[in-house]
Amino acid sequence: MTKFETLGLNQPLLDAISDLGFETPSEVQEKAIPILLERDTDLVALAQTGTGKTAAFGFPMIQKINVESRTTQGLILSPTRELCLQITNEIKLYSKYLKGLNVVAIYGGASITEQASQIKRGAQIVVATPGRMKDMIGRGMVDISKIDYCVLDEADEMLNMGFYEDIKDILSNTPEEKLTWLFSATMPKEVASIAKKFMDNPVEITVGTKNAGAATVQHEYYTVGGRDRYSALKRLADANPGIFSVVFCRTKRDTQKVAEKLIEDGYNAGALHGDLSQNQRDLVMNAFRKKQVQMLVATDVAARGIDVDDITHVINYQLPDEIETYTHRSGRTGRAGKSGISMVIVTRSEIRKIRSIESKIKQEFIQKQIPSGIEICE
Ligand code: ADP
Ligand code: MG
Repeated sequence: MTKFETLGLNQPLLDAISDLGFETPSEVQEKAIPILLERDTDLVALAQTGTGKTAAFGFPMIQKINVESRTTQGLILSPTRELCLQITNEIKLYSKYLKGLNVVAIYGGASITEQASQIKRGAQIVVATPGRMKDMIGRGMVDISKIDYCVLDEADEMLNMGFYEDIKDILSNTPEEKLTWLFSATMPKEVASIAKKFMDNPVEITVGTKNAGAATVQHEYYTVGGRDRYSALKRLADANPGIFSVVFCRTKRDTQKVAEKLIEDGYNAGALHGDLSQNQRDLVMNAFRKKQVQMLVATDVAARGIDVDDITHVINYQLPDEIETYTHRSGRTGRAGKSGISMVIVTRSEIRKIRSIESKIKQEFIQKQIPSGIEICE
């Protein structure tokens, strides 16, 4: 088995990796790290969620940064503020034995002047959402004209969210010679077009669906009458007292409504969606990470990429339109070698959607009954 020691990483990184308890590199790490360390090349890496992409670009970027200089050298674009914060924290952990490396997160909903002054103090790595980045460039608060590395993380999701123009704009403010590393779970047309337009002969790597640490997710579906979704959700929670889960709804309104009802009914729940203030979002995420909130009811956008350990269940309160979104949702559980369950609540007319998900993820769903369904299931 490959070891981190053979990938060309330096001692400060190897020490941090050992502290993190990572034993062997995941497939995307094994493939990407040596290329990014040794070759000055653009890269397109396709790997599902939970496969360890953050370290796949984070380790090489950290090693290549010149800490003697305070200039911004690396830019990481990521779709949501939660992800920005998560990546920033990871980079801090990875670089803990490296003196002088500063990383700053830039995202909407928090003070722009505070973020600008953090950058002014010297941040070699900036992790940003496209919207806020573009804003700060426009106001002259950040200079990315000398960066050497640009990561497009979760590129498919950023484009899904309509960030194409912003990304184009941001990239036009970066030097021609910089290297671009694109990471994505899927390769829709829009991602291919970004790669073609903005990248120079990129090396391409694709990895299998095996998660970092070989995780397993079991997929289950529960058929209910249209008006019984909510009571079904409660029964599922009752049947799994130790549940620690993300419950996905389709709209911000449903998300808020379901969370409120759960709280009213005495469940340990919280809501996460884009209509909440940054402060409210941080509060609920912190409570969730501490497991004070057992059921995080969330929209896809707000919960994108969230990496919280030990999530036991992903519950699809409603199915998403896109199969890819389902893959992203179920990837919240079964991380880092743990097992997890992805549950889907469907009405009869939605069962055909289950079939098309099965053929896409190449895994069968188990059909299950809502436990002790008194008033539910018709
Ligand atoms: P992705 O960006 O591909 O969704 P992440 O970078 O968020 O994945 O990593 C998923 C989880 O796996 C994180 O909790 C991370 O700490 C863990 N992880 C990453 N690499 C390894 C490794 N080599 N060994 C064990 N765990 C790892
Ligand atoms: Mg990621």
